[in-house]
Amino acid sequence: MRCVKCRSNAGYNRAVIDVLSGTTIGGLCVNCEREEFGRSFQYTQGRADRKCQLCDRDGHVALPQYVSRLESRNGDAVVRSSLEDDESAPCLCDEHFHEVLAADPPAPSVER
Ligand SMILES: [Zn+2]
Ligand SMILES: [Zn+2]
Repeated sequence: MRCVKCRSNAGYNRAVIDVLSGTTIGGLCVNCEREEFGRSFQYTQGRADRKCQLCDRDGHVALPQYVSRLESRNGDAVVRSSLEDDESAPCLCDEHFHEVLAADPPAPSVER
């Protein structure tokens, strides 16, 4: 999955999901999350009313985090990464989401 901001591999950090359609737009890598939001998302729960984390407008995208869990299968320990519950994911309105996309990428873009 590609990061919606820097277009590099987003890894298992966060997914970016369109709230209305439920489709996955892309991911948000650790670096871009740090740059845009610092650590704030790590200590926040999504708002119950699904409003933007930064203002009072309706959430446009949800940013659920990947959580890894140890599961045991046939006696073997397996690590599984899955998205956290959508309900507890922070949301952004379209304006703030576009602000994130419009900000300068952390490294010069190679693809053009
Ligand atoms: Zn990124
Ligand atoms: Zn907002």
